[in-house]
Amino acid sequence: MRAMTGSAAHERGATGVTQGSTAELGIPPARFAARLGAAREALSRTGDLALLVGVGADLRWLTGYDAMNLERLTLLVLSTADAPALLVPRLEVPRAALAPAAAAGLVRVVPWEETADPVALVPALVASRAPSPAAPGSTGPRHDRPAGSAPGATAVPRLLVSERLWASFVLRLQAVFPGTPFGLASDVLRPLRMAKDADEIALLRAAAHAADRVVLAIAAGRLLGRPEADVAREVRERLLDEGHETAAFAIVGSGPHSASPHHEASDRRIAAGEPIVLDIGGSYRGYGSDITRTLWVTGEEGLGPDEAFQRLYEVLRRAQAAATAAVRPGVAAERIDAVGRAIIAAAGYGAAFIHRIGHGIGLEGHEDPYLVAGNAEPLRAGYAFSVEPGIYLEGRYGARIEDIVVCGADGPDVLNEAPRELLVVRGT
Ligand code: ZN
Ligand code: ZN
Repeated sequence: MRAMTGSAAHERGATGVTQGSTAELGIPPARFAARLGAAREALSRTGDLALLVGVGADLRWLTGYDAMNLERLTLLVLSTADAPALLVPRLEVPRAALAPAAAAGLVRVVPWEETADPVALVPALVASRAPSPAAPGSTGPRHDRPAGSAPGATAVPRLLVSERLWASFVLRLQAVFPGTPFGLASDVLRPLRMAKDADEIALLRAAAHAADRVVLAIAAGRLLGRPEADVAREVRERLLDEGHETAAFAIVGSGPHSASPHHEASDRRIAAGEPIVLDIGGSYRGYGSDITRTLWVTGEEGLGPDEAFQRLYEVLRRAQAAATAAVRPGVAAERIDAVGRAIIAAAGYGAAFIHRIGHGIGLEGHEDPYLVAGNAEPLRAGYAFSVEPGIYLEGRYGARIEDIVVCGADGPDVLNEAPRELLVVRGT
């Protein structure tokens, strides 16, 4: 246990969490070239026609373009036949041209006019042999080969759409490609996106440290008598002050609310002698933060955790530590869940751990891989995910501990640094 009293540690920088330089953080253009190349190579292997990538994390991963999600179509067309084309509404061209992959000449921006039908332009982009902007005048290397000739190739070449491309676009695309089977771009992109590169890990680490500082600042501040929603508002403000562009969630579950894993911060006022589950996060330069710590508010009277809560928390702590320690390349994703769950179940809380132990994180707050029974796929170096067991006694109280962990070559690389002990605070 760790006692934190008063406002002594309230100042940022007094939290003991690494405050590194953030000047160097970002994804250099060479990464986008490598990603586009890897996606194209994977497409060659499957023998599919093209990736059709709409607005979302796949597009950001491939090009760095954080496009607005509009009823106007924005679509990256990546085929093996041609340089990638980014189809954008005319009024979005200035923004699209600034996207790292476009600015570096890795994708060509193809505008469509306000009154045109952008979907009608896609077949030409899929089949196009236009010269690459990177090599003017050249026809570029040809990758044509009979479909199905490559090992692992699909029988009939497909068009692969990103998972978040709106159904309204997909149906119109299917209409202009009659007879062509459609599949998901994640068949190609999922394995690539799961393994984070060093620049992505640095961003995830900076995001984690920012969230660490916010959790510790909240723990060191006044809590007693404040509505949960007021604390949640402070969490969001602090995340933004820490450089997050979005503060996506701020779960503040006090007293019996701590037993509800996705509790929505309410008007309930925090009282002495009860726990708070604080689960906060958002997006920092595109990459997600997500941390949970459990606090116990003693108030002036020093109402510390009862024995039952201390026992519950100790079991949870052991489960989270053991699950984290089990992370290494080759271990099945579901194994991490099983290791944590076995400890919780052996202590008699099996029925109180009601969710999977973790989810992947990167450009999306929840993404592959999911650490859940039934997912036998092996972890690989660079995979980033949460390890977040919880024990919830409905109507009474609950606790959760969550860290973001990267699978390193030899074991876990835990990005969060905030202490995992129960944070016993006065809250005054
Ligand atoms: Zn969380
Ligand atoms: Zn999480």
